[in-house]
This record gives sequence, structure tokens and C-alpha cells, in this order.
Amino acid sequence: MRSIVRKSLLYKSGVEYSDYCINHVEGCSHGCRYPCYAMMLKKRCGVIKNYNDWIKPKLVSNALELLENEIPKYKKDIKFVHLCFSTDPFMYKYPEVKKLTLAILERLNKDNIRSVVLTKGVYPKVLKNTIKYGSNNEYGTTLISLNDDYKKRFEPYSAPFRSRIRALKHLNDNGLKTWISMEPYPTPNLIIQNLKNILNKISFVDKIVFGKLNYNVEASKYVGYKEFYDECSNVVNAFCERRNIECHIKYGTQKKDIKKTSRLFNTERVLVANI
Ligand code: SF4
Repeated sequence: MRSIVRKSLLYKSGVEYSDYCINHVEGCSHGCRYPCYAMMLKKRCGVIKNYNDWIKPKLVSNALELLENEIPKYKKDIKFVHLCFSTDPFMYKYPEVKKLTLAILERLNKDNIRSVVLTKGVYPKVLKNTIKYGSNNEYGTTLISLNDDYKKRFEPYSAPFRSRIRALKHLNDNGLKTWISMEPYPTPNLIIQNLKNILNKISFVDKIVFGKLNYNVEASKYVGYKEFYDECSNVVNAFCERRNIECHIKYGTQKKDIKKTSRLFNTERVLVANI
């Protein structure tokens, strides 16, 4: 795997419900074709040339060194650290990324800094070691379908849906906080699927975040786009209500944005932008 050197690592993100963030890889092998917002941004800024460039990730080789210097500077302001906004911390079939992510989680935990993680990969079982990695972290998985063909088309190199769910359930069964990012949820002209079936598969989680599909020409052409997401938001809200699961509908997904109060995670809000 190729690597790069960066000048800084920890940064305060200005986006919805976020706090501090770490992106310790440049690019992402999962190659999502929704499209991936992070890839679009990096292309616009000239960091990468094209899709092929994006899916050949580069590890930030000095990430731990940077973290060591930056933790004392920011520690008092940090509520939690999100991994990651512009890459995937458990990139599928990339053991180098997993190794570095685990080392980062361990280092953050040493200073009692909580992490909020989101992946389309598979969580390793070692995260059960709460002394090493922390007991208050939140582990999230993106799940927008159960259909393998849809995954092949839109998340071609990510982990199979079932492996993601299995790994997340394992962490949940071991007392860790888990959540699902159901974003970007597809419109029916991309795939016809039963939202309730998907929800039933992940009813064990502590929190569900639901969000619409943006920046996709086909989805935006769907007649009844707004009504569809409004209806889905109601289904997700009702499901969470019944199961006592925390629910967050991303801003702009339902016609009238509902401000939900957190039931399980109190003050912590998370940005789950799928970037
Ligand atoms: S959407 Fe996330 S997982 Fe997919 S390519 Fe972009 S950064 Fe990677």
C-alpha cells in the first residue's frame, strides 16, 4: 500500500453534528458510485485526478506521530473523534488500514477520548477489548440495502452486507454501542426493496441514522422523490419508537425536519455523512 506524509491530522469539522475528525488515509478502495462526496471534493481540489486514483488509497504514515503531538493541544475541547469523513477506517481487505485505525483508537483511549466510527468494512473482534480501545466508543456500519447486485453497482469494493451486520452484531452482543447509517438510501427507480425488511435485520442496534441520496442524477429524477423520503423517514421513526432505538433523520430528508432528542447517547451527535 502506498503512503503519504501529512502536516496535521486532528481537525474540528464544521459540518452537521460533528466534532473532531481524523482521516488517516487518502482515498478509499470501496469506490462508492453514489457518487462519493469525498471523492468529488478531492477531485475538485486537485488532490486526485480521477476515480482510479481515488480507489488506490494511501496511508498517512506519520498519523500516530501527529496524533501524539496534537492530543495535548486539543484534548480539552474534544467531545469525541469521528473516524472518518473522507475515507473508511476499516477498509475491506486492507489490513494496513485496520492496523493503523486500531492503533489510533488505542491512542485516543489512552487519553479517555471517545471515538465514533463508521465503516463499510468489517469490524475486527479485538474491539471487544475495551481496556485497550475504550468502552464508550460508538461503532457504526453503513447499510442501505441487503441486495448484492445493488452493492456491486454502488459500493463495488466494500464488504458484503451480511458480513458487516454479523461483525456489528458481535460488538453489540459484547456490550458495545452500535449504530447503523442508512444513508444514502436509494430511490425506487434504482432499486425496489422493502425498508422494513432491512430494519428488521438490524433491530439490535442502539441508533439508526437515515438520510436521502444526494448528488445522484437518476435518483433526483424520481417522481415523488420528496414524498418517498418523507414516507421512509416515518417508517424509520416508527420502527425506532417501537424498539426504543435512538433515531436521527438527516437534515433535509423529511419534508418537515423533526428534531429528535437522544434517548441513549445523550449529548453526542454524530455526523454520518457518507464520505
Ligand atoms: S462513500 Fe465512504 S466508503 Fe464509499 S468510497 Fe467514499 S469514503 Fe469510501
